[in-house]
Amino acid sequence: MNLLEKCDDWMVGHVSFPVTNYLFNRKGVMSDYQGLVDSERYSEDQLQQIQLRKLQHMVRYANRFVPYYSNKFKQLGLVPEDIRTLADAALIPALSRQDVIQNCEDLVDVRFRSALDAAKRSKQGPGQPVPFARVRKHRLVRNTSSGSTGAPVTFYDDGSVTAVSWAFEMRIRKWYGIDPGAREARMARISVDYMPNDAQVWMRKRLWHQLMLPGVNLADREYAFCLQKMREFRPRVLWGFTSALAGLADYIRRTGEDVSSCSPELAIGWAAPVYEHEEKVLKDVFHCAVTNIYGAREVGHVAAWCPNHAWHVNQEHMLVESNGNPSDGEMGEIIVTPLDPSPMPFIRYRLGDLGRPAPSRCDCGRTLQVIEDFLGRTGEIFVTKDGRMIPPNFWCRFFMVDGQSQFVERFQVIYRRCDYISIRLVKRPGYSARTEEDMKRILRKNFSPDVHFEFEYVPRIDPQISGKYQMVVNETKTQPSGELHGCSTR
Ligand SMILES: [Zn+2]
Repeated sequence: MNLLEKCDDWMVGHVSFPVTNYLFNRKGVMSDYQGLVDSERYSEDQLQQIQLRKLQHMVRYANRFVPYYSNKFKQLGLVPEDIRTLADAALIPALSRQDVIQNCEDLVDVRFRSALDAAKRSKQGPGQPVPFARVRKHRLVRNTSSGSTGAPVTFYDDGSVTAVSWAFEMRIRKWYGIDPGAREARMARISVDYMPNDAQVWMRKRLWHQLMLPGVNLADREYAFCLQKMREFRPRVLWGFTSALAGLADYIRRTGEDVSSCSPELAIGWAAPVYEHEEKVLKDVFHCAVTNIYGAREVGHVAAWCPNHAWHVNQEHMLVESNGNPSDGEMGEIIVTPLDPSPMPFIRYRLGDLGRPAPSRCDCGRTLQVIEDFLGRTGEIFVTKDGRMIPPNFWCRFFMVDGQSQFVERFQVIYRRCDYISIRLVKRPGYSARTEEDMKRILRKNFSPDVHFEFEYVPRIDPQISGKYQMVVNETKTQPSGELHGCSTR
C-alpha cells in the first residue's frame, strides 16, 4: 500500500465512516471503538463492573419507559434496586422469540410511540437506515430477523444497535492487524436485483470503503461478477454470509482463477457458523485468516473468533448467560442482554444456541469472556438415546475430512425422528455402493444401534432464500426457541 492509499484509508476510517454514520443516528462509533481496544485487556473484575453498571441502568430505564418490563416487574414484585450483582439478572425471566412477536409494541419505549407509528407506515425496506435520521423527529427503523426457523421477529432500532455492532466489527478487524477504513468487500446484499450503481452502493464504496456485492442466490455467473469487482477494488477484508464466501472460494478453486491480485487478508463469516470445510476452502484459495461473527439482528454482534478461534464476547456491550447447570455437566442455552439502552431493549433474550460463557484463558491475551462448548443451534443438535450430542460440525468432518469429500458434491442431513436420519446427497463421479457402505460403517460407530439411516440421492440441493445453506434440518423439533443469526444488510 502506498502513502496515498494509507491516507485515503485513514480519512475513510476516521472521518467519512463515523460522520455519515452519525447522520444515520449511529453515534459514537469511533470513540466506542477506541475504548474497546483498551478495555479488552481489563481485568475480569473491571469488565464485570462495566457490565453491572450498564445492566442496572438498563433495568431502571426499561422499568420506567418500556411497558412490557414495567408490567412484568410489577407482576414479579421486582424493583430495579434488586439488581445488585450480575447474577441477579436471573431474577428477570428470559425473553423468547414468541414473547417478542406477541408483545412487540409494548417492548418499545413509550417516548417513541409516534416514531413507531411512522416506522410502521414507512415504505423503506426492512433495516434501511433513515437518511439524516440524526436530525429527524422520527428515526425508528423497522427491521425483521430472517425467520428461517419460524415466524420472523419484527423489531425497531434507532441506530444504536448498529453503532455497537460497527464498533465491534472494527475491533475484530484490529485483532487481525487491520485498521479502520481498510477496503472491504461485503457479500451480503439480499436483493435479487442487485444494482451495482445505485446511490447506496456508491456511497458505501466511496465513503465507507465497503464494496457491496450480492450475497444470496449465487451461481457461477454471480461469483464471476463478484470476482471481477474484487479485482478492481482489491479489498483487504472479505465479509459476508458464510455460504456466499465459501461458495466464492469454491468457484475460484474449481475454475482455477488467479486471485493473487485481490486476495483478502481476512475473511469474516456472518449469519451462520463457519464450518471446518468452509474455513479450509477459504484458506486454501485466499491464504487468508478466517473469523466468524456470532449474533442476531435483533441484538447485534455477540461474539467473534480471535486468531486462536476462541469465541470472545463483546463483553462491554453484552451480558451473556447460559441457563444450564454446568456443575451437572448440563449444556445451557445462550441468553444475551445488549447493555446499551435502545428504543426496544431485549433483556435476557434466548438465542436458541447451546454454549457456556466462561472467563478467558486465551493465549491471545484478551480478557474478554469466551463462549465455550459452543454447539450452535439447539435444533441442529442430535441427541442420541445414550445422551451423546452430535453437533452439525460432526457432519462436516464426516463428509469433508474423512475422505468422503471426493465423491460427495453436497449433502444435507435430515433428522426425521429420534431414531431415523435421512442423508441427502449430490454425488460426484466415482461414488459407488462401496462409498455408501463405508459411510454406514462410520455412522454405526458414532450412533446407537437403534438409529436407522436412509440415503437419498438427489440432483441438487438448493440454499434457502436467505442464502443459508441448511446443512442440518431437524424435523423432530417443531418449535424453535430462538433465532441463530440474521440475514440482511444494515
Ligand atoms: Zn483469544
